[in-house]
Amino acid sequence: MSKPILVVGGGPAGLAAAHSLLVAGQEVVVVEKADRLGGAPILSGYAKLAPTFEWATDAIGPMVTRVADHTNATVHLNATVTEFSGEPGNFKATLSTGETVDCAATILCTGFTHFDSINKPEWGFGTFPDVVTTTQVEQMISSGKGIRRPSNGEPPKRVAILLCVGSRDRQIGREWCSKICCTVSAKMGMEIREELPDCHVYIYYMDIRTFGLYEEIYWRSQEEHKVKYIKARIAEVTSDGDKVIVKGEDTLVKRPITIPFDMVVHAIGMDPNTDNMLISSIFGVDLHHWGFIKRENSYGTVGATNRPGVFVAGAATGPETIDDSIAQGTAAAMSLLTSLQPSLEAAE
Ligand SMILES: Cc1cc2nc3c(=O)[nH]c(=O)nc-3n(C[C@H](O)[C@H](O)[C@H](O)COP(=O)(O)OP(=O)(O)OC[C@H]3O[C@@H](n4cnc5c(N)ncnc54)[C@H](O)[C@@H]3O)c2cc1C
Ligand code: SF4
Repeated sequence: MSKPILVVGGGPAGLAAAHSLLVAGQEVVVVEKADRLGGAPILSGYAKLAPTFEWATDAIGPMVTRVADHTNATVHLNATVTEFSGEPGNFKATLSTGETVDCAATILCTGFTHFDSINKPEWGFGTFPDVVTTTQVEQMISSGKGIRRPSNGEPPKRVAILLCVGSRDRQIGREWCSKICCTVSAKMGMEIREELPDCHVYIYYMDIRTFGLYEEIYWRSQEEHKVKYIKARIAEVTSDGDKVIVKGEDTLVKRPITIPFDMVVHAIGMDPNTDNMLISSIFGVDLHHWGFIKRENSYGTVGATNRPGVFVAGAATGPETIDDSIAQGTAAAMSLLTSLQPSLEAAE
C-alpha cells in the first residue's frame, strides 16, 4: 500500500479529486480550513445552482458524504498545511493542528475568495443597506426567508443586478472575467421574478458571457421571466434616503440614465484565494501574475504545477464553474496517479 494522497481543500474540486482517488483504491487525507466540507456552494449558502437549478445542498451533499464516509479517507477540518517537504512519493505535511501527514503527492483544491464589494465603493455597497451581493441574495433564498430589502424587510418592487463587480475592471486590478456571474445573475433574475412576480428585474451589463449551453438561461430569463437587460456603463450608485439610484450611460443609445431601485445586487466575481501567497511559499508552487495558482501544463499532465508531485485543480487555478472544477479535480487525480506511478510503486 503506497502512502496516501493529500487533498488540500474540500470544495467541489477537492471532493471530486478525493472521490476519484478513493475509487482507484488510494488512501486519501483531506485537509480543509473550514469547519465543514463542500466549499463555496455550502460555506457561502448558495441556493439553486446554475445551470441545473438543483439546490446546492442536494448537489454537493452526496459528494461530501461519499468522501467523508469512506473508510480510506481521513478528513481534517479547521486545519491548514503549515509546512510541506520531500519529493514525489515521499512528502511530509505538517498541519496547523500539529499533526503530520506522510503522503505520496498532493492536489491543491483551495479555490477562490469572493470579491469584497467594499473595494468598489462608488457602487454603494457598505454605504446603502439595500445594495447587496449575489451571495447575499443566494443566502436570502437558501435560508427560506425570501428576497427582502435589508433596510425595511419589504419585498422589493424593482431590482437591478450589476454585472462584472470585481471582474474585468483594470482600475481595481481585476482584469479577469469570472466566467459564471452572467449565468448566475440570469438565473437569479428568474428566481426573483418567480418569488415576486410584481418585481421588475433589470440586469446592467457590459457584455453577456453566458458561454456555451448556458446561453439558454439568458434567453429563458428574458422570454419566460421578462428579465430586462440594459447595456450600460455605471458611474455610481447613490440614494435618496429610500431608493437606491443607479446612474450611468446606456451605451446602446449613448444617453445618460438614472433609475431608482428598491434593491441593487452586485454580481461579485472570483478573486484569487487570499491564502495564495502563503500556499505558494509552503508548497513551492508558482502563481499566475493575477494571483491564482499557476498550471504548468494544460495539455500533457493535466493539473501539474511547477513542483513535481504537487497538482492543482478547480477555482484555485482561476475562475471556474462547479462542473469544470469537478472535472478538473477528477482529471488531476487521474493525472497524478499516472504520472506518479513509478514513485507510488517505489514507496510500497
Ligand atoms: C456568487 C457566486 C455564485 C456562484 N454560483 C455558481 C453556480 O450556480 N454554478 C456554478 O457552476 N458555479 C457557481 N459559482 C462558482 C463556484 O463557486 C465555483 O466553481 C466552485 O466553488 C469552485 O470549487 P472549488 O472546489 O475549486 O473551490 P471552492 O468552492 O472555493 O472550495 C475550496 C475549499 O478549499 C478550502 N480552503 C481554502 N484555502 C484553504 C487552505 N489554505 N487550506 C485548506 N483548505 C482551504 C475552502 O475552505 C473551501 O472549502 C459561483 C460563484 C460565485 C462567486
Ligand atoms: S461572467 Fe459576465 S458578469 Fe462575470 S465577469 Fe464575465 S462578463 Fe462579467
